[in-house]
Amino acid sequence: MNTQWSALAGMAGLALLTQADIVSAAPVTLDVVSLAPRVLLVRPETQVGNPTTIALLGDEETWLLDASIPVSAAAIDSMLVHRGAKPVTKVITSHAHRDHTDGLVHWLARGASGVATVEQVARMKGSPVIAPALESGEIALLTDTVADTRTLQIEMDGVPVDVQLLRPKDRSGHTDGDLFAYLPSVSVLYVGDYYFFDRFPIIGVNEGGGLEGYLAAIDWITNEFPEETKVIPGHNTFAPTVPAVPSLAEFKAWRADLQRTIDWITSQRSAGLTADAIVAKGLPSEFGRLSEKPRYVPEERWIRFVLDATAQPDQE
Ligand SMILES: [Zn+2]
Ligand SMILES: [Zn+2]
Repeated sequence: MNTQWSALAGMAGLALLTQADIVSAAPVTLDVVSLAPRVLLVRPETQVGNPTTIALLGDEETWLLDASIPVSAAAIDSMLVHRGAKPVTKVITSHAHRDHTDGLVHWLARGASGVATVEQVARMKGSPVIAPALESGEIALLTDTVADTRTLQIEMDGVPVDVQLLRPKDRSGHTDGDLFAYLPSVSVLYVGDYYFFDRFPIIGVNEGGGLEGYLAAIDWITNEFPEETKVIPGHNTFAPTVPAVPSLAEFKAWRADLQRTIDWITSQRSAGLTADAIVAKGLPSEFGRLSEKPRYVPEERWIRFVLDATAQPDQE
């Protein structure tokens, strides 16, 4: 890091206050769970969401999986300092939805570098939080891009620990720029927004995502990864419930429930019901928990989304 970069980083700390003020009315609570001795699952919760961050506590540096939003990033930073963690030097982002990437304005201004896919970088530049910070020079997107698969190593207790970065084969999943992170030594797989714990998922159709690719990527995970894998969702339980550390079997069960709702919705259409009639009828009550508040997607939105996503030209 050169001195000019240090000066910019110092200025950014002040400039960021004005941006953070916008959301500082929302208090941040942080819940932290150890996934392994040096691997922390962090769930921030604010009025604007609870995107997961995973902290990898290396001997000389800390790496993060997902940047969170600026106000949560500041809280996570304080928590890490309090725990005696080494400085954050690398932030790997699962996808470019703003609740996972806008926090880069915090981390990059403090000297970390980003690791993302090219599709993510393109979308980040359009973020109303990141774009002004880029333009004013508060941050530079020092982003290292991942084309397909890649393994990075971080030292923990003197041992290099693999962090495997993988892309789904179908690039139209949650978005078109998604990245999974797998730590084989501790059987932790971070899937980002391919898992909304016990809720209907958001699928970023405006960001190149689609239902088919989303489900295909989940199936690839459940088929390819070992049973002992802990599958960490991009959105977990809500405070005050403790964050879940789901098994591969739980992930599979959630996927199966989604499929049962999709099959039910499409069968209603086949039986001649209109979208409004299907919404009015409502899903069988056993699926009610998937749209319980707090939630991301209410039942009506899920029904209409599935109808749109499964409408085939040959069904006209
Ligand atoms: Zn997302
Ligand atoms: Zn998200």
